[in-house]
Parts: sequence; C-alpha cells; structure tokens
Amino acid sequence: MNWKDSAVCVAGLGVSGRAAARVLAERGARVTVVDARDDEAAREQAAALAAHGVTVRLGDGGTLPPGTELVVVSPGWRPDAPLPAAAAAAGIEIYGEVELAWRLRPEGAAPWLALTGTNGKTTAVRMLACVLRAAGHRPLAVGNVGTPIVEAVLDPSYDVLAVELSSYQLHWSSTVAPLAAAVLNVAPDHIDWHGSLEAYAADKGRIYAPGAIAVVNADDPICVRLAEGARRTVGFTLGVPAPGQLGVVEDLLVDRAFTADPVREAAELAGLGDVRPFAPHNVANALAAAALARAYGVLPEAVREGLRAFVPDPHRIAHVATVAGVDYVDDSKATNPHAAAASLAACESAVWIAGGLLKGADVEDLVRSCAPRLRAAVLIGADRAQIADALARHAPDVPVVDVAATDTGAMDTVVTEASRLARPGDTVLLAPAGASFDMFASYGARGDAFAAAVRRLAESAAGSP
Ligand code: ADP
Repeated sequence: MNWKDSAVCVAGLGVSGRAAARVLAERGARVTVVDARDDEAAREQAAALAAHGVTVRLGDGGTLPPGTELVVVSPGWRPDAPLPAAAAAAGIEIYGEVELAWRLRPEGAAPWLALTGTNGKTTAVRMLACVLRAAGHRPLAVGNVGTPIVEAVLDPSYDVLAVELSSYQLHWSSTVAPLAAAVLNVAPDHIDWHGSLEAYAADKGRIYAPGAIAVVNADDPICVRLAEGARRTVGFTLGVPAPGQLGVVEDLLVDRAFTADPVREAAELAGLGDVRPFAPHNVANALAAAALARAYGVLPEAVREGLRAFVPDPHRIAHVATVAGVDYVDDSKATNPHAAAASLAACESAVWIAGGLLKGADVEDLVRSCAPRLRAAVLIGADRAQIADALARHAPDVPVVDVAATDTGAMDTVVTEASRLARPGDTVLLAPAGASFDMFASYGARGDAFAAAVRRLAESAAGSP
C-alpha cells in the first residue's frame, strides 16, 4: 500500500494512536491526530509528534479534517462517535489500529495467531506466548497492552505474534488474516458500544478470516455458530474430546486434532495441575492457547513446558491471604457477569463482593447460577441496586450488605463486612461483575484497594488476642 502523501486522520492521541501516527508519517503520509483532550500531557505528546511532521489538533475529537482520505480510529472509539460517523457517511475508509498494522506488515513478516473472547484474552495470549517460547520461537504477545501492534509488525526480532483482539478492534478490521484464530467465549459485555449481543458476537466472529484455522470453544454454542463456514475447525472442550478437538481426559489435557490420526491417536499435552490459577475456565484458556500453538506446529512437550512457565497476571483469581480460615481472593478483573460467574463457579462457598458499572449487562443468569454457592454478598458501586434486586429474587435467604460509600476508602468497610459474614472454609471473593471506573481509576486500583484492606484485616487479626 502506498501511503505517500495520503491524508490520514488518526482519531485518538493514546499509545496506539501515537504509534500509528508516527509509523504513517515515516511512510510519507500527511497525518493529523485529533483528540478532545487538551491538557498538559496531551500538549507534550502533540509536541513530540510534531517533531515527526504530524499535525495534532487538540480540544476537538469530533470534526473530520478537510481532505481526509483515511481514518485510523483508536480502540474504544464508538462507531457512532461524531468523527467515525462523519467519515462513514462521507464514504471514507476507516481502519482500526489492527487493520492498519496488518496492512503495514512487510513481506514475509511474522504470522499471527490471534484470539478474542469476552473473557480470558490476556491470560490465553500470554499462555500462548509462553508455549511458543518453550517451542523455541521468538514470539511477542500483543493486543491491548505493551508494544503497540503497529510497531510489533515492523520489528524483525519476533518470528510469530500472539495477538489478543478486542471486539472493538475487530469491529474496525476487514482484511486481517491470522494463520489460526480462536474465540474463547461470548457473553454479554460492551453491549452499550456494539448495540446488541448479536452485533458484539458478529464483531468477534470477524477473527475467523477466510483461510484461518478456526479454533472454537465447543462448549459455547455462540462460538460454534461463529465458526460456521471456516476452512478447518478445531474444537476445544472441558469434556472428553472427539476427533478434531482438544479436551480433558481424567487429569490430562489432550489433543485429538493435530495428531497424525485423530480418530485413533490422542497426544498428551499437559496435566490439569500445570494450569495456573487452577479453575475450569482457565483450563479452557490453556486448551485454546494449546490449539493455536499446535496449529502452528508446536509439539506437545512444549505445551506442557510453556504452561508451567506461565505466571498469572495480578487481579485474576489472585489469592491475597487466609485470615481466620477464610481465603480472600482478588478477581477484580472480573469486570462482567460472565467472568464473575466463572470465578464463583470455582468456589464452594463464597462471600461475594460485587458491584461497579454493569455497562448494560444483565446479572440475572449470573445471580441465579451462583445463588447456591453464596454465603453472603457485599455490594458496592454504582449499579449495586441491580445486583441487590437479582439477589432478592434468586437468593432471598442470602444476607446482603449494601455499602453505600463510593469513596475509595469504602474497601475497608467492604472487607470488614465480608469478614463478619464469612465462616472458616469460605472464600471472600472480589469478582465485581462490573467495571471499576465509578469508584476507582482501574480494575487494578480496585484490586489493590481490596488487597490492602485484607492485609489490614490480617494484621489486626494477628494483633488481637
Ligand atoms: P480479558 O483480557 O479478556 O479481559 P483476562 O485474562 O484478563 O481476560 O481475564 C478477565 C477475567 O475473566 C478474570 O476475572 C478471569 O478470572 C475471567 N476469565 C478468564 N478466563 C475466562 C474464561 N475462559 N471464561 C470466563 N471467565 C474467564
């Protein structure tokens, strides 16, 4: 593609927008970055880009610069935001950063193994990178964090990219063609952005480009439907695998898809004990990562070695402390009902800390399914009334404490209340089912506040006679 002198508008002065602007300017494009922000940090970033010949327009993220031939939107920009809407109405092409990265790939560039899903993307993509590394490759995990994908595709030090794609990024992608691609699961999330569950699922399904090996969660009917029409489908299941699938046999992860004779032959990949943190949904993540790696020719031994080398990220079912026989677990990253349901399913008896911003999601199924495991619930944040209503309907006997405080110090009250309700053997689980931005800067800050409050509780318990 010839970028020379083309007029490109990059929407968003974030990390990926800045990287896109730099890379395009280096290729001779006339780049204008627009952003509604106009603070000191934005001005500094604008000055740095100006040195690359990029024009930056701050304080207006809504108006399309005249003469724009292509718009590159940063992740998170809604399709109905004024600028993309104006571009679409004018018939101007719109790329997301991932589409741009795909089109910037030089000849012979590293192939992509890609995955998406409502939950588990970061975990699975990092597991995949560990497995690829164990097989002697030079992989990079890219997607939502770390090296911007437009830079990663130009870096010859990697021979394969493990790419995590959000539904937002897929929405703006059209020609991206991974070698193999997986949808981990699909459950309601970001419905306010996509408009409906159908539209959200359809955007996720775009990962199954023609020609890609489609790795499919065989236990999730929506995923199965999305892969219809794929050239080759490989399923993964928490059950015993059929030929053409990866799955679980007793305490082993096994492959009946990539062996020489999948009907008669199964390859042992790893033990269940090699999956950390151990929870059923995480076994699914490991199977998906293994399937992508196997599609790329990785041997079974490397799957085991890679999974063993994987270190889980913080705030994902992270054990904080055991106080008075009660485990305190931080799953602050459970920012939607589907994730919260997965971690609650791994507990026998939980005092559930929930609440936050539900982003239009429905908690009915979540509350109904977890009700038998609940000792009690402690609710925080903006949308807690919706969870309280569902609990009243499906778990009327479960004690519910409503912590009305919305300041960040509320976590001490939350943990104290939870400790009062818990009995030895229970888990106090922060799995909020909602985003954190109503009370905290991020899910990480929410998890940190929880962990700090638990540690204070532990200290005071240790100090008391
Ligand atoms: P993502 O990058 O998709 O947000 P993460 O790996 O960061 O995924 O995990 C997000 C949350 O989802 C965590 O709370 C985790 O416990 C939960 N989770 C991870 N994998 C799955 C899965 N396969 N199914 C359901 N929930 C999951």
